[in-house]
Amino acid sequence: MSSSSVILVTGGSGLVGQGIKYVIETEPVGSKFGKREGETWIFATSKDGDLKDPKATEAMYEKYKPTHVIHLAALVGGLFKNMKYKLTFLRDNMLINANILESAHNPGGAPRPKIEKVISCLSTCVFPDKVTYPLDENKVHSGPPHESNFGYAHAKRMVDVYNHAYKEEFGLNFTSAIPTNVFGPYDNFDLEDSHVIPGLIHKTYKVKKEIEAGNKDAKLVVAGTGKPLRQFIYSRDLAKLFIWMLREYDDVEPLILSVGEDEEVSIEEVAKAITKAFGIEGQYKFDTSRADGQFRKPATNAKLLSLVGKDFTFTPFDEALQETVDWFLQNYETART
Ligand code: NDP
Repeated sequence: MSSSSVILVTGGSGLVGQGIKYVIETEPVGSKFGKREGETWIFATSKDGDLKDPKATEAMYEKYKPTHVIHLAALVGGLFKNMKYKLTFLRDNMLINANILESAHNPGGAPRPKIEKVISCLSTCVFPDKVTYPLDENKVHSGPPHESNFGYAHAKRMVDVYNHAYKEEFGLNFTSAIPTNVFGPYDNFDLEDSHVIPGLIHKTYKVKKEIEAGNKDAKLVVAGTGKPLRQFIYSRDLAKLFIWMLREYDDVEPLILSVGEDEEVSIEEVAKAITKAFGIEGQYKFDTSRADGQFRKPATNAKLLSLVGKDFTFTPFDEALQETVDWFLQNYETART
């Protein structure tokens, strides 16, 4: 990286963006993941402009004059929203991504610094529905994604296509990261339309209130059998990996950012850890009439570890979950619920 750089993080108010902000602000200055001399970090939100609009996107680049972009902004949502609004997920995310990359390319030659790197954020949803496991970086385009989120998944896949095309036609240094399931402070804790961990955290909060009000038998109800396995990454660990990618990773090919396959956690273990974090350990039961979803969809982090080094440490799941629950309790009034 050059001695003076401006790093623009789109989606800076979200789960992942706030994870990066936390790490940059709390790690020692000049350290591996801390802020370096000459770096200016900008955490943009939708208040800086609607990135679906090319003019607003261009205005944001004009305002901040970035040299590097970590592009996180996206229309994201749970299964129900993805199934109901397929065209919206496809179109909004296609527009956002195309605008971010084209303004980074700056074909009109607007007077601002050349962009040295763009890292865009994909998701393991981009992978084919029918695929051999574990998922790895070579399988992104090897079959159609699951039909439930094909709008979102195709829009994300196209980022990888764009990255290759910008590299081949213009030599630009655009790449992408593929995180597995993320959780942490600033997540969306909505009771209906959220991912599994923030949804269960909010539900457990309500169960605890019921218990405190005298209903000693109140229990967290977990949809399904609790047996499916998932890889979860703490937003503050993911943040470190994005910061490392920004400084060290110069390949167009996407990189899976995840804990290892041997660190899969069952939904029952999630429920156990969350009830423990709230001080009501074991107060959960399963609604087995509800669907489980896929049993496992493991992704390998072998390429990541070969590059970042095997000494990279992920926060133990229980510890990360406790920090998330503590944050939720301290920020209940302002959290996305
Ligand atoms: P959040 O929903 O927490 O945050 C979304 C961010 O995008 C917010 O900062 C929001 O701004 C911004 N944004 C949304 N639409 C627009 C728009 N039209 N114009 C400008 N800004 C916009 O998302 P996450 O942090 O969870 O996700 C970040 C990235 O990580 C996404 O690309 C997502 O696909 C990816 N990802 C997430 C995973 C997860 O488990 N959460 C898993 C894998 C990948 P504002 O707050 O102002 O509305």
